[in-house]
Amino acid sequence: MTQTHFTLSNGKKIPSIGLGTWQSAPGEVAKAVEYALKNGYRHLDCAWAYGNEAEVGQGIKASGVPREEIFVTSKLFELHHHPEHVPLAIKDTLKNLGLEYLDLYLLHWNINLEVDAPAGVLPRNEHRVKGSSGKFKLDVALSDDVTPTWREMEKLVDQGLVKSIGISNFNINRTKKLLKEARIKPVADQVELSIQNPQPELVAWLKKNDILPQGYTPLGGTGKTNLRDNEQIKKIADVHGVQTANILLSWLVSRGINPLPKSVTPERIANNLKLVDLTKEQLEELDALSKSHPQQRVCDQSDSFEPTYDIYQENDPEFSDKVQFAKEQ
Ligand code: NAP
Repeated sequence: MTQTHFTLSNGKKIPSIGLGTWQSAPGEVAKAVEYALKNGYRHLDCAWAYGNEAEVGQGIKASGVPREEIFVTSKLFELHHHPEHVPLAIKDTLKNLGLEYLDLYLLHWNINLEVDAPAGVLPRNEHRVKGSSGKFKLDVALSDDVTPTWREMEKLVDQGLVKSIGISNFNINRTKKLLKEARIKPVADQVELSIQNPQPELVAWLKKNDILPQGYTPLGGTGKTNLRDNEQIKKIADVHGVQTANILLSWLVSRGINPLPKSVTPERIANNLKLVDLTKEQLEELDALSKSHPQQRVCDQSDSFEPTYDIYQENDPEFSDKVQFAKEQ
């Protein structure tokens, strides 16, 4: 496949496949990043919340690949959305990664936690505030309206600390709200996109609005999954002489999605960079397969905090992606 990158709405280029780093364990991730960069990757997906950015930074350094050749993304975590914490969070991320700037900084979730940290201190897990149910408390007002956080992220672009800003786990309704306020438009929305959770309305809407859909958990995640063993996908993989992972990633890229497969296994890391040209019939077969079952999400924090917060609004009669998308047709 000839597609090597996508072009963001601000003209910057992002490589078609990025290496995921969530749950890449200490002692493994530096080697994985070094191996990936030495074997052709030029795009890394990181986050403060993964707790391994310092090791990712060691891997970047050890690879010897010049900084300007690598597209590095990180994410502002749900502990750090209060405007005064944004400059502290980017400073910590850049220090951990050993970098002077990020290529992309994402608002990791559209929810954020109440924190109780001394002034000037970057909140950590011990600064979360517990509610009466025993769960950690959400700051609902700042979750409903992320504008104050976004304003601080825009300043990071002005200061040259990040080249682009974007969002993650935002549905159509919440993205529309942000677009009304944004001085700098989000260039990407990183959401769960795989054959088991294809989100066709969200993908179509993002593309129409020139926001790149980035696909996390593109192989079905680190837990048990039947995706990679699916017989139909195996048959297509055999025709191309590749693994099922290559078919899943090629299908996503052909839908205009930027997948971020995670691996710490050298053979898989190298393998996942290979995309194949799927025929029209194969693409249709995969599209049909993606619609043949209910959506199955791996990542959902809606119930994790107090109060419960419907992050994706999937069954909301007014705000689900299906309803929001249909309104515009
Ligand atoms: P994933 O990439 O769908 O799956 C990773 C799993 O697949 C690992 O267990 C990996 O094992 C295995 N694997 C990789 N290549 C394979 C191959 N060719 N054949 C068979 N198995 C293979 O899951 P993910 O880590 O959940 O998602 C990817 C990335 O998206 C994350 O790492 C993170 O960067 C990002 N993400 C973002 C968010 C967000 O909220 N924005 C949420 C979740 C994830 P080994 O590592 O053992 O090889």
